[in-house]
Amino acid sequence: MIWNKEQECMPREELDKLQLSRLKDTVSRVYDSVPAYKSKMDEAGVNPRDINNLADLKYLPFLTKQDFRDNYPFGLLAVPMRDVVRIQSSSGTTGKPTVAGYTQHDIENWAELMARALTGAGATADSIIQITWGYGLFTGGLGGHYGAEKIGAAVLPASGGNTRRQVMLMHDYGTTLLGCTPSYALVMYEEFLKSGLDRSEFKFKSGLFGAEPWSENMRKEIESKWEIDAYDVYGMTELIGPGVASECACKQGLHLAEDHFLAEIIDPDSGAVLPYGERGELVITSLTKQALPLVRYRTRDLTQINRQPCACGRTHARIQKILGRSDDMLIIRGVNVFPSMVESILLQIPGIEPQYQLVVDRVNNLDRLEVQVEVSEQVFSDEVRRLEELEARISRELDSGLGIAVRVRLVEPRTIERSEGKAKRIIDNRKL
Ligand code: ADP
Ligand code: ZN
Repeated sequence: MIWNKEQECMPREELDKLQLSRLKDTVSRVYDSVPAYKSKMDEAGVNPRDINNLADLKYLPFLTKQDFRDNYPFGLLAVPMRDVVRIQSSSGTTGKPTVAGYTQHDIENWAELMARALTGAGATADSIIQITWGYGLFTGGLGGHYGAEKIGAAVLPASGGNTRRQVMLMHDYGTTLLGCTPSYALVMYEEFLKSGLDRSEFKFKSGLFGAEPWSENMRKEIESKWEIDAYDVYGMTELIGPGVASECACKQGLHLAEDHFLAEIIDPDSGAVLPYGERGELVITSLTKQALPLVRYRTRDLTQINRQPCACGRTHARIQKILGRSDDMLIIRGVNVFPSMVESILLQIPGIEPQYQLVVDRVNNLDRLEVQVEVSEQVFSDEVRRLEELEARISRELDSGLGIAVRVRLVEPRTIERSEGKAKRIIDNRKL
């Protein structure tokens, strides 16, 4: 199902035109109303009149996380506080939280985008949607909530935490769709197993998962355990929250809401725009945002863009599942390693639980990566020899898959800390 056919299936030429007019409008607005943009653009020697087609975007300076820090908390707002109806801020995974403001119009657009994402994941007015992303300053909860209400579904605003109660709600109230982080979907599954409840008494059919990277194998894991369809949704606080891009039934990349956002892919080192189809850092320009418009915002998330037509009928380009953010990339003895790469390899090996952590140390000036992996109850009670064999196998597969030597440590079931929000995958003990 498609929530908004007119926008989501708009012919390319029309979409290009719409993007250009909205781009011009956005660039003029930030130039006139946000001093930080004006000074950056003046410094770069460009002004809004230089933007005459979409390719002219490349003349504009980037906006970075540093700009958010320099203008903390409200310096990047383009409207007076009187027009702001909501303030949200990031979970602060990488430092001081970034702050976002919304006008009423921004809130309506955000709900529209989440309505698209939820519809893509199978939601209709008949759905019962349990939102288990945290409600509060974090964008997940309220973003999902407004989108679900817009569809006319029944929303269970469960917020994060109290996993036992979550499973009970799911069972008793007949949740059909769950919105949460992918790692939490598995935490809930463990709780479901403990509950002794019968799966056939649940109405659970699909899930919309996002806010953290997850591999294709993680999808398979969630889908086969819960027996549901699992869809990916992407976003970030600065951009609007979740709903910037989301999957359709084809599950071949996330459709980026191109009527609201314009995407580029750049080389994260040089800042050069990369040719179509190459992988690099996603740079986003907002096209409709009023309170916090973004021009060439460096997301630090790595992906690639696909403009091939999609079988679902949507015309909006797709971004490939986000591998990780550039700050999540570990450089171990010169080799780039993302937690999602480790995850993907691990989940192909039977007997392993999808719970793992990467611990990095520096020993005698050399980086050492230890991967701690939980094994299933059954495997754990096996003979020591079997455990050693499994450890050796994981080691071999990680070594060849990643191209570096990795230490593997099998740990008892349920020893790795579970998170109610984003999973913590990396412990970096190096003092760099
Ligand atoms: P914080 O930076 O504090 O974590 P946010 O909650 O705004 O703040 O998180 C946004 C980031 O979360 C994105 O930049 C991206 O790295 C990650 N993210 C969000 N959704 C996804 C997704 N579906 N796949 C991979 N990464 C995601
Ligand atoms: Zn599609």
